[in-house]
Amino acid sequence: MSTTKMITRIAPSPTGDPHVGTAYMSLFDYIASKKTSGKFILRIEDTDQSRYNPESEQKVIDMLHWLGLIYDEGPDIGGPNAPYKQLARKDIYQKYAQQLLDQGLAYRAFETPKELAEIRLDLQRRKLSYGYDGRASKISKEESDKRADNGEPFVIRLKTPTDGETIVKDALRKEIVIPNKEVTDAVILKADGIATYHLAVVVDDHLMGVTHAIRGEEWISTAPVHVLLYKALGWDEPVWVHMPLLKNASGKKLSKRRDDANVDSYRQQGIVPEALLNYLGTMGFSMPNGKEFFSLDEMIANFSFDRISLGGSIFDMKRLKHYNKHYLKNVLDLEKVAELASPFLKEAGYSWNDEDYLYDVVDVLLPRVDTLKEIAEQSNYFFDDNFSYTEDAKRRLEAGQKYLEGLERELSVLDFFDYDDVDDCIRSYVKSQSVKMGEIMMPLRAALAGTTQAPGVTDISVILGKVKVLERIGRALSFLEAGLLDDKPEKKKEEEKVKVKKEKQSPKKKQKKDAS
Ligand code: GLU
Repeated sequence: MSTTKMITRIAPSPTGDPHVGTAYMSLFDYIASKKTSGKFILRIEDTDQSRYNPESEQKVIDMLHWLGLIYDEGPDIGGPNAPYKQLARKDIYQKYAQQLLDQGLAYRAFETPKELAEIRLDLQRRKLSYGYDGRASKISKEESDKRADNGEPFVIRLKTPTDGETIVKDALRKEIVIPNKEVTDAVILKADGIATYHLAVVVDDHLMGVTHAIRGEEWISTAPVHVLLYKALGWDEPVWVHMPLLKNASGKKLSKRRDDANVDSYRQQGIVPEALLNYLGTMGFSMPNGKEFFSLDEMIANFSFDRISLGGSIFDMKRLKHYNKHYLKNVLDLEKVAELASPFLKEAGYSWNDEDYLYDVVDVLLPRVDTLKEIAEQSNYFFDDNFSYTEDAKRRLEAGQKYLEGLERELSVLDFFDYDDVDDCIRSYVKSQSVKMGEIMMPLRAALAGTTQAPGVTDISVILGKVKVLERIGRALSFLEAGLLDDKPEKKKEEEKVKVKKEKQSPKKKQKKDAS
């Protein structure tokens, strides 16, 4: 790879929650710039005010920080090319639009929306679906100036050639050749004086020194307009890099509406950024040794455009969770995972006094979860003594009552309650009863956790400690003895309340009836 310092940019339009495609492009922008000691810029493309969402900009900033894809210049940190929001650069674009107009390389077009719709329809009928037929380019300069002076609304369009062809040189593809007659005279400045995306992206990429425009494949169709704009402005084009799109399982572009494509939703589900980056890194890019798991640094070290393959990659939540599991279990250290899991546990209403207790809980649950949120979902019995029993747990408790009584006796006399003591005690009790392990373990697990889907009973017992273990066995036994197992105590209470309410209400109802 050449040693040119790559200046890259991510240029999201602030229209809603950040799309995973923005994270994907940012990743490649970031690694390309890091690999070459270049620069990575964040620019907010807010020229389309009709789709503007005021919270979106902060969400993009938060997403990039969460992912650790820290940009060198951007709207919140400034930089030598400020401002980094296109609306604030309005005058700059107007200057270049005027320049093109003065040079005869662009022209005013005065059609009303109704006239434009008619032109479009006519072109469609003639199977020329290029949007506009260039008719306003024939208006003389004098007439155009006069109409503008008279206050007639107009847009400015780029004058594109009707013969010959435009070539888009893309680093990932053979030359893309487009006949110029298929390129529309795109609007570059709207009637309200705001630049369109086409003009703004070209002017900004040039002025900000962007060397590589890395963006999604969906922009290939507009690239000829951008190439022609560069020519008209007399500037060198950046290297175009149109990355393959992320697709859903049916091979369609990943959409925010149809698919789970919102990066913040992954964070809320307890995906860690390292896993998302690694998974996105496998989309279209591969490591020389075909490695499945790799870090951002390894990606930077091995990055080159030759390692990107086209064709699009299927983005699948199950695969993302597979990566996430790997990072939780094998890459991040336990303290880190516990720290990351804490907000999820707190959100579930759990608290703890001792960090070691949290580490033990997280450690024992890790083999059973794919996400941080699942740690919170599966840990209620570690933080809440008043859990209810699942149907399966109830059945196990009923079948194992006598073993629970036996275990209560055996465990209560243990002087030490560490792993080996508890394990030996349970095992010898199982042996003494001459039954299968599960017949004793399952009721115990149900008593300790309210569910049979939990880690090993010895692990749970040691984490909970002797006092709680005995309390829980005692609780299960009292439920069994009082025949309460069918209902949660809370539910009983609720039922009582409803009963009392009904009793109170019924005389009134009766009265009403009597009165009618
Ligand atoms: N604003 C465009 C977007 O939302 C940027 C496209 C480009 O990178 O040129 O994706």
